[in-house]
Amino acid sequence: MSAQPSLEQAVSDVFANCTECRACQKVCPFLAKFGHPKELLATPSEVLFFCTNCTACSKICPERLPVAQSLYEAKTQLLRKDSSTREPYISAKSYAERGHRFPFSHWERADTVFWPGCSLAGSAPNLVLKIRNSLSELLNQRVGIVLDCCFDPCFQLGGVEDVAKAFKDIQERLISYKVKKVILGCTNCYKNFKRFLLSEEVKVKHILELIPQSLLKIPFKEAYLHHPCPAWQFEEIRKKFRTLIEDKVELKEARLPACCGAGGALYQNEELASEFREKTLKWANHRPIITYCMGCKGRFLKSEANAYHILEFLPNYSPRLKPLSSTQKWINRFFLSLRLKLFSKKALVLTLYLIALITFYTLSYVKGFDFKAYLNYLNQIKGNPLVIFLYLLIYTVAPSLFVSSLALTMVAGLLWGPFLGTLIAVTGATLGASLSFLLARYLFYQAVAQRFGKVYLKTFWDRVEKDGWKFVAFLRLFPLFPYPVINFLLGLTPIKFSTYVITSFIFMLPGGFLYTFLGYSILELLKQNPWYLILAILLLIGFSLVIKKAEKLFRRPLL
Ligand code: SF4
Ligand code: SF4
Repeated sequence: MSAQPSLEQAVSDVFANCTECRACQKVCPFLAKFGHPKELLATPSEVLFFCTNCTACSKICPERLPVAQSLYEAKTQLLRKDSSTREPYISAKSYAERGHRFPFSHWERADTVFWPGCSLAGSAPNLVLKIRNSLSELLNQRVGIVLDCCFDPCFQLGGVEDVAKAFKDIQERLISYKVKKVILGCTNCYKNFKRFLLSEEVKVKHILELIPQSLLKIPFKEAYLHHPCPAWQFEEIRKKFRTLIEDKVELKEARLPACCGAGGALYQNEELASEFREKTLKWANHRPIITYCMGCKGRFLKSEANAYHILEFLPNYSPRLKPLSSTQKWINRFFLSLRLKLFSKKALVLTLYLIALITFYTLSYVKGFDFKAYLNYLNQIKGNPLVIFLYLLIYTVAPSLFVSSLALTMVAGLLWGPFLGTLIAVTGATLGASLSFLLARYLFYQAVAQRFGKVYLKTFWDRVEKDGWKFVAFLRLFPLFPYPVINFLLGLTPIKFSTYVITSFIFMLPGGFLYTFLGYSILELLKQNPWYLILAILLLIGFSLVIKKAEKLFRRPLL
């Protein structure tokens, strides 16, 4: 919504100058049903929450009155009088707050982050990951993901104070996470970031500003373009959307905003929502509808239209053709957040620890569980050469299958203690690293190159050419990437196999010791000695801090 004139002024303008010509009612199912703007402003009531803020009324008004702005101000005044008992607002606010909290929110530290917004994350979690990867390649830097809610459900109903409060929190978090740029996957989020993010330190971009036309493969000859309502405030975004498609497809688009039926509190009035939606469906006239809002796409799918989000045309992605229920979307958001949290090594270590602790403490309360017998059994098998052979065999194959090498290393500590365990685990890790390296170099070159993308491949290649074994040593000392990824990517670089094997073995020893010690501390815990566990935790915290520092060094050549 435009900021000029002021919202209070907008109300007086409409009161003073509306001629009651009813032109706005012809383009708006809400006004057609509940009366012209002057009537609604004279006796403000809850029906105002069905206004979607689409601005079609302002654009059509022959007197050029700020109609949409005046109705928005009326909603805000209603909430100011009493927001706690106004039902549509209560559910909108609780939806926003849920998305803003654990377990649905997720924050990553990075210079640049992708903020997909609730509806993209809920409707297409795999697409969120794909977009993040495409952005990392395009910008040649690591792009983090932030899952959070921008409080647009509150904004839509006039709750500006709540949105401003939420943004205070969002802004503080962005600054403390050292984020310099936020790329928004949703135009509603973009609108709110533009209005409520006050810090100059953080730059804001719409995803469409960054995606090049060449990346999208559109399988139609003609299509209808649908702009989500907030995009009508941003001519440059609408223009960019058009340019992404116009060379490839014959286009039709509306000249006036038309809500998909998801705006305002329309979710509480399906009949009115479908009247809004019907306008677009009529204009589209059975052409595929392409938009850049997952909420709009979902609404059109519900009416059995052929609808797509533009980013679903990124390579190797299949658009979803069926609508999702609200519950499915929450489940998707939960699992996306969980997946992102668990992907970090720190979280994995913590999870393993928690599982181990819960298991041992549960077992200690089970009558008949004999710790001594268990320890004796471990003592018996650890010296058996067949156990060592089997362990090494599993460790050789596991990294190529992306099985966690961290768990295997910890098992070595449990079986053979911190010193012999480190030697056996690092021997296994070197065998595993060698197999992945050889597979990538001689059998799956193309597949590995495609899987990890040309940017990473080029970085690894350049660094190996410049620093040789020192780069391998660096990656082994500070595992900034998952272990299998390092092995596969180094297989595609010009490093000599023997140099790779020797360097890997030597420089994996410190990290190997740390995780073997972690495994050993579990054995000590079994003997009711918690001190090794405490020491292991402290060492791990120290190690993760060192890795954070090393991340900066990654982009600079070594000595
Ligand atoms: S729904 Fe759109 S056209 Fe109708 S009153 Fe609200 S802003 Fe105006
Ligand atoms: S189009 Fe403008 S002048 Fe006509 S009824 Fe609507 S607000 Fe009043």
